[in-house]
Amino acid sequence: MNIFNQLIVTLLPVTPKVVVARFAKPYIAGEDLADAIGTVKTLSAAKAMATIDVLGEDVTTREEAVASKEECNRVLAAIAENGLDSNISIKLTQLGLKIDTGFCRENVEDILEAAKARDNFVRIDMEDHTCTDDTLSIFRAVRKKYANVGIVIQAYLRRSESDIRQLAEEKANVRLCKGIYVEPAEIAFKKRAEVQQNFLRLLGILLGARCYTGIATHDDVLIDAAKQMIQHLNFARGEYEFQMLLGVRNEKRNELIRDGHRLRVYTPYGKRWYAYSVRRLKENPQMAWYVFRAMFGNSN
Ligand SMILES: Cc1cc2nc3c(=O)[nH]c(=O)nc-3n(C[C@H](O)[C@H](O)[C@H](O)COP(=O)(O)OP(=O)(O)OC[C@H]3O[C@@H](n4cnc5c(N)ncnc54)[C@H](O)[C@@H]3O)c2cc1C
Repeated sequence: MNIFNQLIVTLLPVTPKVVVARFAKPYIAGEDLADAIGTVKTLSAAKAMATIDVLGEDVTTREEAVASKEECNRVLAAIAENGLDSNISIKLTQLGLKIDTGFCRENVEDILEAAKARDNFVRIDMEDHTCTDDTLSIFRAVRKKYANVGIVIQAYLRRSESDIRQLAEEKANVRLCKGIYVEPAEIAFKKRAEVQQNFLRLLGILLGARCYTGIATHDDVLIDAAKQMIQHLNFARGEYEFQMLLGVRNEKRNELIRDGHRLRVYTPYGKRWYAYSVRRLKENPQMAWYVFRAMFGNSN
């Protein structure tokens, strides 16, 4: 990141929310469930599947966690009512992970029950490293009762190879991504090439074990290597999927769909869009320029 981008990132916390909102727009379906359903319908017309995410994390009260759970159940009902090809993604800190892991697990089970009744699937997102052990242990506990659940592993974490080997033995359904949180160098690879190498090592283990894998990346190096592995291992189209974020690399997304790959778009919505948007903005190398232009120039 150059000095200019670094400066804007540093200033993000004091950047007016209205400015952040403008640049968050492509990454968020909207504030309401109806916005998410509308976006998923548009994606569906473009032959993309979706996974809907109710924005929010790190709740501090049981009431907030229960409200999040209820919203997730409303999402599952709306997906079924509209006959959409979408599952949902959930964050455990939104369901009370930091309050009480038993309570969180009960909330996850309620969502899994609602999903099962509608023949749908729930993906448990992975948050920062303070959540990894608890997230994996809740995943394993609920998977004993529910088959319709998958997990996420972050290629930047040094521990991930060991986690993936175990998950591959368990034939888990895994989304593999690089990882978005800022983690210390003792536990995470920092160099782009190292993260890419680890991503491909982990992907090789998952595909080698014929686990259903969500290949979640917009990185051409990884997408091309994944395509080669899939071909080499004779995977049928229904045995894996690519995954991308709403608003990121739409042309690449369409190209993958045209080539016949299954492609799922992570579709977040909700009133708590700020933390998610700031993470996305920090990730986008063009971000600094856009934010600067919005604050000080003509932004047409
Ligand atoms: C479906 C999905 C689910 C995810 N779930 C999780 C999760 O549970 N936990 C977690 O830690 N992380 C998650 N992530 C985020 C992920 O870890 C990465 O931070 C993110 O995908 C960027 O990594 P990349 O592999 O696309 O590579 P990058 O090298 O970051 O991106 C490759 C290229 O994509 C484009 N690009 C990437 N991001 C942006 C952006 N924000 N705006 C514009 N262009 C961009 C740029 O052209 C960039 O050069 C998820 C990502 C996806 C796609």
